Order: sequence, then structure tokens, then C-alpha cells
Amino acid sequence: MNLFSRKKGAVKGSADADRDTSHFSLPPPNLLLGISPQATKPNEDVESALIKRLESNGHGKCDACGVTINGDMRHSLSSRGNWYNVCSMCYYPTHLDKIPFYDEGNIIYFPNMSQARLNAFLRGLWVVQFFANTDPENEEMRDVAETLSDLERTLEHVVKVTVNIAKAPSDTGIYASTLHLLQDHEYAQRHKYFGGFRWLPSKDMYEKEIPFWAQNDYKNLHYEQMASNITKFMEEYTPSFRIKE
Ligand SMILES: [Zn+2]
Repeated sequence: MNLFSRKKGAVKGSADADRDTSHFSLPPPNLLLGISPQATKPNEDVESALIKRLESNGHGKCDACGVTINGDMRHSLSSRGNWYNVCSMCYYPTHLDKIPFYDEGNIIYFPNMSQARLNAFLRGLWVVQFFANTDPENEEMRDVAETLSDLERTLEHVVKVTVNIAKAPSDTGIYASTLHLLQDHEYAQRHKYFGGFRWLPSKDMYEKEIPFWAQNDYKNLHYEQMASNITKFMEEYTPSFRIKE
């Protein structure tokens, strides 16, 4: 699985859409930060049609970031008139007020990367850490995990909206409250003012999912591929960083 981008063929009407990504024939969903009162709710027909899109074993892919999800991990997301099955990392940014209050993560200003790519990157990072912990003999994986800890700190230092700018203790809740205050027409235009903001989820919220993702999406991914993806990420976003040789 590619950690960084959707597969080719994701564009609507693309002639070379992969057979196994046929559900990606829709344009990618928009994961602009939002709140649930403004979101379109699925009716029963929509829900059952989306559940049917999952495979017979109840598994499927997140239509935004491509990770494997099962029925319990699936959320329904409406975007630009289409319906999607998405993972919770892709659902919560668009429903900030639904994030469990005990672990709401942070809002960061990070226009360089889409929310879906940020989610896929973070997940890759967490899975490598998981592999390194479950297989301590694997020195190569441990090295990659150590390097990733540096990356985690880099992301931790990205400017946070309320903590750094408004000097407030919490972040996601205040951002969601601000969205609540907007008039409908302002909310519809929020990409103009808030387009560069992303939700930075907390790893603790995904303790249960990480082993599932490791098993389903990353098991056969060689650590060198992960390292090369990480290097690409860092070259693009933090030019002074070099992965450990
Ligand atoms: Zn997703």
C-alpha cells in the first residue's frame, strides 16, 4: 500500500482505474475540517448501500486514505453529493465535535499536506513503532522507529491554532466551537479561511486499530520501503532532516 498518495485511477472517469479500486471511481472526498450539525446525515438506504460496498468478509477500504476498515471502523461521509466509506481518522476531521472528548488531538496549520495524506503518514509511523515493539530483535525496524520518533517531535512542534496563537489550553474543541459560530454561508466558504488547517489525531486513540492495520495493510511492506517513503516526506517538508543511514 502506498502511504502517501491515492492510487492512480482515483480521478473521476479515469480510464486506467485499477480493478480492485473500482470504488475509487468517485472523486476523493473532501476532508476539510468541519462539524456534524453542518454535515449531511445518511438515511437507512445510504447506510445499507455503503455497507454493501464492503467485501463479503465485512472488510473494505477507506475511500479517502485507502486503509483497511471493518464494519465497526466504518463511517459514512457525504462530500460534494457523493457518499463514502471512511475510517475514523478521515471521518473525525469533518465531524470535529464527535471526537471523544478525552483525546481530541490538535489542530495544526499544515497546508503542505492533505488530511488524507497526513492520516496515511501518521498511520505508517505508528505501525512501524508497533512492529519495532513487537519484534525487538529486528534492528532495522528499530532504527526506522527511532528515526520516526524524531519525526513525531517535528509534527508536535508544528504551530497549533489555539495553544500557540490563542494561548488556550485546548485546541480541537475551540476550533469546533468557532466553526459553530459561523453563519451557513460563511461555513460553506470556510476553505477560504481555514483551508490550511488539519486535525492531528492522538496515537492513544488508535491503540486498538494499530494492530489491525499492521496485519491488514503493512505486514508485507518492507522496512526499506517505509524508510524511503519517510525520507521523501522529510525532504519535502523539513529539508534539513536526513534519515539515519
Ligand atoms: Zn481514512
